[in-house]
Amino acid sequence: MPTPPATSVALPLQDSFGREIESLRISVTDRCNFRCLYCIPDENIEWLPKGDLLTFEEIVRLARIAIELGVRKLRLTGGEPLLRKNLPFLVEELAVLPGLQDLALTTNATELVRLAEPLAKAGLERVNISLDTLDRENFARMAQRDALPRVLEGIDAAEAAGLTPISINCVAIRGMNDHEALDFAELARRRDFEVRFIEFMPLEHGHRWGEHSLVPGRELRERIQERYALAPSPDQDPHAPSRDWVFEDGSPGVLGFIDSVTAPFCADCNRIRLTADGKIRTCLFSLREHDLLAALRSGEDDAQVAARLRAAVATKELKHHITDGLFVKPERTMSQIGG
Ligand code: SAM
Ligand code: SF4
Repeated sequence: MPTPPATSVALPLQDSFGREIESLRISVTDRCNFRCLYCIPDENIEWLPKGDLLTFEEIVRLARIAIELGVRKLRLTGGEPLLRKNLPFLVEELAVLPGLQDLALTTNATELVRLAEPLAKAGLERVNISLDTLDRENFARMAQRDALPRVLEGIDAAEAAGLTPISINCVAIRGMNDHEALDFAELARRRDFEVRFIEFMPLEHGHRWGEHSLVPGRELRERIQERYALAPSPDQDPHAPSRDWVFEDGSPGVLGFIDSVTAPFCADCNRIRLTADGKIRTCLFSLREHDLLAALRSGEDDAQVAARLRAAVATKELKHHITDGLFVKPERTMSQIGG
């Protein structure tokens, strides 16, 4: 594995289109206790061997190097990140890294009753919780687990532990949960949550994705606007994947629309991903990965690893090709990449 030439750490971590990378999503496991139909629909899944997973020490080292190059935000994800043993210990180590401005987690919330408080104490700031339906039977159908009560308790635990503002991620699938858009808007108003509707992306195990199952975010927004007047949020972060809207009547809550398929935000993307087995992916839809695990385990020093990270970022794709006929589905799925 030839090492790319070392470069100055003073330069920003920038891709070849001038986008500066500020956000690193770290997958801590590919395993999951749910089988969401749009993600891991099957029961018989081959997980990564344990020895291929980055250790906590390796994750912290890579995060530190990335932060030294300009990354400011870390998000832990998976698979289901709370299934990784001793996660609060990792959070504690990451939270104190100099230069880090934001440390968050995306979870299905099943383990939050047990872990919300230890995670908050360890320095976690916020959680994004995936919740696709507010109906117990529908939940059991979509996640293939009858776990809605436990997830709702997990949300309460996160709120009580101060992991706020709470964001709810809802993937809309036509004919399954799109009729619940208004219920989610009401949840946002009632609990002062940010509810983010995510368009279904072709990153599932198998072949369920298609025009017939995708619900454009715009359609959901218009449906909600029939009941509540909405205005673009005055606090919109230009690099955030969601376009945020607030209630014109001044009610609490925010509605975000992540229209990755129908209105891609690639031009403003400032994210890269680290898979649980130590590969850098510069886009969710990348067809190529950059192996940092091998670099770490072959004894490369920080400057060499930093040069690899910089070289990987330089190859970041301009945009995805879902709708232009050039799309090739990546081999790895959302749960294996880290959503
Ligand atoms: N297990 C955790 C969870 O569900 O929050 C973290 C990992 S999950 C892969 C991260 C996010 O990706 C979740 O919000 C999930 O709904 C979303 N996701 C998974 N598959 C998707 C797909 N095919 N299209 C769009 N979003 C997807
Ligand atoms: Fe698991 Fe999250 Fe994928 Fe659902 S979306 S199967 S909870 S990784």
